[in-house]
Amino acid sequence: MYTEGYMDLGRTFAIRLMQHLVVPTFVLDAERRVLIWNRACERLTGVAATELLGTRHHWQAFYDTPRYCLADTLVLGRTDHLAQLYDSHTLPSDHTLGLSAENWCVMPRAGRRLYLAIDAGPIYSEDGKLVAVVETLRDMTETKLAQMALHSLANRDGLTGLANRRAFDTAIEADCRAATQDGTPLALLLADVDHFKAFNDTYGHQKGDDCLRTVAHTLESQIFRANDLAARYGGEEFAILLPGVDLEGALQVAERLRGALSDQAVPHAGAPGAGVVTMSIGLAAGIPAPDMTPKDLIDIADRALYEAKNSGRNRVVGVSLTPASI
Ligand code: GH3
Ligand code: MG
Ligand code: MG
Repeated sequence: MYTEGYMDLGRTFAIRLMQHLVVPTFVLDAERRVLIWNRACERLTGVAATELLGTRHHWQAFYDTPRYCLADTLVLGRTDHLAQLYDSHTLPSDHTLGLSAENWCVMPRAGRRLYLAIDAGPIYSEDGKLVAVVETLRDMTETKLAQMALHSLANRDGLTGLANRRAFDTAIEADCRAATQDGTPLALLLADVDHFKAFNDTYGHQKGDDCLRTVAHTLESQIFRANDLAARYGGEEFAILLPGVDLEGALQVAERLRGALSDQAVPHAGAPGAGVVTMSIGLAAGIPAPDMTPKDLIDIADRALYEAKNSGRNRVVGVSLTPASI
């Protein structure tokens, strides 16, 4: 049978053990005050336990503006906040089992941004009342940065930094699905640099690469909305996806892009006419038929591009996806 003294000894031992755990750990009580802030947590955050014990200031170790930590959301039963507070999180059907989340943390005192994997586990009294929440932290910054680098390698074009063909293929699939299902407009612009072979022949391949970077930056600088995507489709061809944009809007964007490139006045002695680098744009836009595929959309924009080339280059040709009402 356990005596009172034996229990106290156990409690003291548990606290000591937690202090020396190599895993950064802190514990909040049922009032969300810091009960334990272990050494590893001090090392990770640069904040001493003496500053935080008995307070609700633990957020200051991680963030520069007041907000809940994972343990707070568990004490408060506010798991509805998680999506807004964390880069990623798991939401178990029963949150009394604990929560996991991941986040970029500013770490104001440590002076370096860290990507932390966070687990919060509740402790209940024998009569089922929440008495404390243990939060453990893992520094996943290097893994996260490696993942981001891999993702960027797989989805970015090395020369221009724009989205690559693979990222474009994924995006057009998703955008087409959304537009055909919801009956919302979608625009695809295909832009092709005019007389680019002659540019390479005149100035050399390196200058050709510089020119493609200029075209890419010009496109990027004119794309403002989060859901728009500018991609290098291949060679000297670029694709721009504009969800929610109709024919009129797409023609305006395309004219702006075309104008922005010719305004840069990149010399092109090998080109007839103005003697600067220009591009032709073919576009398809509007509310698509329910059975339109990404391939259909690309084919229509490609035909418009062909027409822009054939009718003199440095121009925009647009085709409506929306069938004319009879
Ligand atoms: P058009 O006005 O009809 O589009 O003529 P064009 O000369 O631009 O078209 P064409 O398709 O004949 O030539 C495209 C050129 O783009 C040929 C190819 O060498 C060049 N090119 C493709 N990718 C790159 C690249 O990454 N860097 C450089 N410097 N040139 C490239
Ligand atoms: Mg081409
Ligand atoms: Mg070309």
